[in-house]
Amino acid sequence: MASNMLDVLRRIILEVNAAPDLDQALNIIVQRVKKAIQVDVASVYLSDFQLQQHILMATDGFNPQAVGRVRLAFGEGLISIVTERAEPLNLEDGSAHPRYRRIVETGEERYHGFLGVPIIQHKKVLGVLVVRQRAMRKFAENEETFMVTLAAQLAGAIIHAEASGGFARLFKDVGGAPFTLKGLPGAPGVAIGRALVVYPPANLEAIPDRKVADPDAEEASFRAAIADVQREVRAMSRQMADTLPPEELVLFDALALMVGSDDLVEGVVGRIHVGNWAPGALRDTIHELLRAFEEMEDPYLRERATDIRDLGRRILTRLQAEAPVQMLGGDGRVILVGEDVAAAHLSEVPTAQLAGVVSARGSSSSHVAILARALGIPAVMGVADLPVSRLESQQLVIDGYRGQVFVRPTPAALTEFQRLEREEEQLRAGLQELASLPAITPDGVRVPLYANTGLLADISPSMRSGAEGVGLYRTEVPFLVRDRFPGEDEQMHIYRQVLEGFAPRPVILRTLDIGGDKELPYFPVREDNPFLGWRGIRITLDHPEIFLTQLRAILRASIGLYNLRLMLPMISDVNEVDESLALIRRAHSELIEDGMPVTMPPVGVMIEVPSAVYQIDALAQRVAFFSVGTNDLTQYLLAVDRNNTRVAELYQTLHPAVVRALAQIVDGAHRHGKPVGVCGELAGDPAAAIVLLGLGVDSLSMSVGSLLRVKSVVRTFTKAHAHELAQQVLQMEKEGAIRALLNNAMEEVGLGGLVRAGR
Ligand code: PEP
Ligand code: MG
Repeated sequence: MASNMLDVLRRIILEVNAAPDLDQALNIIVQRVKKAIQVDVASVYLSDFQLQQHILMATDGFNPQAVGRVRLAFGEGLISIVTERAEPLNLEDGSAHPRYRRIVETGEERYHGFLGVPIIQHKKVLGVLVVRQRAMRKFAENEETFMVTLAAQLAGAIIHAEASGGFARLFKDVGGAPFTLKGLPGAPGVAIGRALVVYPPANLEAIPDRKVADPDAEEASFRAAIADVQREVRAMSRQMADTLPPEELVLFDALALMVGSDDLVEGVVGRIHVGNWAPGALRDTIHELLRAFEEMEDPYLRERATDIRDLGRRILTRLQAEAPVQMLGGDGRVILVGEDVAAAHLSEVPTAQLAGVVSARGSSSSHVAILARALGIPAVMGVADLPVSRLESQQLVIDGYRGQVFVRPTPAALTEFQRLEREEEQLRAGLQELASLPAITPDGVRVPLYANTGLLADISPSMRSGAEGVGLYRTEVPFLVRDRFPGEDEQMHIYRQVLEGFAPRPVILRTLDIGGDKELPYFPVREDNPFLGWRGIRITLDHPEIFLTQLRAILRASIGLYNLRLMLPMISDVNEVDESLALIRRAHSELIEDGMPVTMPPVGVMIEVPSAVYQIDALAQRVAFFSVGTNDLTQYLLAVDRNNTRVAELYQTLHPAVVRALAQIVDGAHRHGKPVGVCGELAGDPAAAIVLLGLGVDSLSMSVGSLLRVKSVVRTFTKAHAHELAQQVLQMEKEGAIRALLNNAMEEVGLGGLVRAGR
């Protein structure tokens, strides 16, 4: 066993994560494991659930020809014991075990020592990592834990490969197999279209493969980029000549050499002539070089990998400076796909062609998702395993309700989704008729429906959808898209447009809510637990200068309109309310002193931290209204990060605990005669809207894309019926049962078409 196990582990994990495909990841694992534990054979079996077989996928020690050929039926051999028990099996003499099965396909001799560990992801056993020894050998505990740790890492790589079609390709030897990716719902709807991969400049990881029409021209532009970067490196060296000692300057010569090296240049040119465009060829070549460097024993040389990465970026920048953004030809429907799709990317496709968005990063509260909702197109966010480089021009179906992406769907799936898309269209058209009708229950209870927004672009879609005002204006959005804090006048103009756009209808402006996952590029906050850290009101109270500027801008923007309501985010303690109210009064009196006819708006707080639920009485004495931020309240009640795909299944928006907290909030607020709205995503979920209505929530605020669906719920369910259902829901123990009850209720009243939207 290597002396420094942790170091070996770390190195292997780095290599595995950098491997371009599953094949190579598996090969790296078996080679390194064989060496680290000094065994005769290390292998990986993966389980094909369709064929019901464990298939040898990689080996170091057996005949390489055996890969793909050695297959054990489920239930057969020691491998099956490991998968059945989902536990390591460590046997001094495996061959003495009654279920031992000698592998004859490879003319295998008899092995004794056996250690197999399951490869598990999300409770599912995907295969087995196994080592074998000719001699008798019982493996030590640290060897077992070493293998278990590696197997856990391997699980991630396998899921990734499965997601990108690699697994299917290896197993069935068919390219272009369909596969499904799981992300987070970003914006509701279903769409079918071809992928257009967008990428930020100079990000090699996000570069897609593209076919090149003229390899010679591509080679020429690549060589020109190389020459430019060599000049750039030499210029850097000259610039540094005065400040750096000569031995350090040598580094620049080495860099210039590296840029023009055969490994790099010939590697890229070769790949171009095989048919890839220069950025794609560069990406693969740099990855290959990186692997070579990262394998080096010498830590100094290993660190040079950083230089390679940097050179790759520099060459890419040059290439991108020359190449205009490519667009898909024709007028087909386009789904934007990228590592981190930004709002600006939406403008790269004509709106009529834009069908949807898929992003590896972000969540439903990302700017691009908010914009997608405003445009009425679906978005799937946070697709952690998005194989960006392989998706260009592929046919995709995206389901923004459930956060799923189907790549190269089967004809049957496609037909099904085309039907759903048509139904959606009909539903939209049918709902459109509701736009001008009031949100009133059949037994005469009015439930105002408001829009959530943070974009000026939202104003007209919000108005068209019949929103009766704005229930949540996220003021951080204009802060997020700038490169500095917007000044008082600048902010005033933005707020004025929203307030004027909706007047006389009410507009709830929420004060700056940054931190958590909303970091301003010019105000970095680095914390271990950002969602439990410096966030929302905590930041603005610590920076009264930022808060007062915003408050003054908001108060000035509202002059003469009288439709402003002011709302404070992330309140967890009454002191925060007292301090905020003092600052609001101060901003107000300063403006009055300056001769401005500002008025004090009603001030409310968001209930999105569990502690606020239990302080509802104290809060009710201080503020005019409440709005429940269910997005955060759910994440804090359930201790589930709202953006983490790994625990997304646990983020149950209708969890019994959430429903009970809501009931408590409504009762508490109403005891003091204060209205309660809900402005989290839950308000836009038709099934949940029934419960909210039944619990007595006074208004609902949501993305405009959901507004008409919820209006059809309000116009169909009587308050009495909703109340009855809510009482039943309050008795239930599981979200699944709650959803089933509500879906049933919707089917019964003829709103079956909306059921999908709540899933
Ligand atoms: C919420 O937490 O529910 C909410 C509406 O605020 P945000 O999504 O902006 O955190
Ligand atoms: Mg929130």
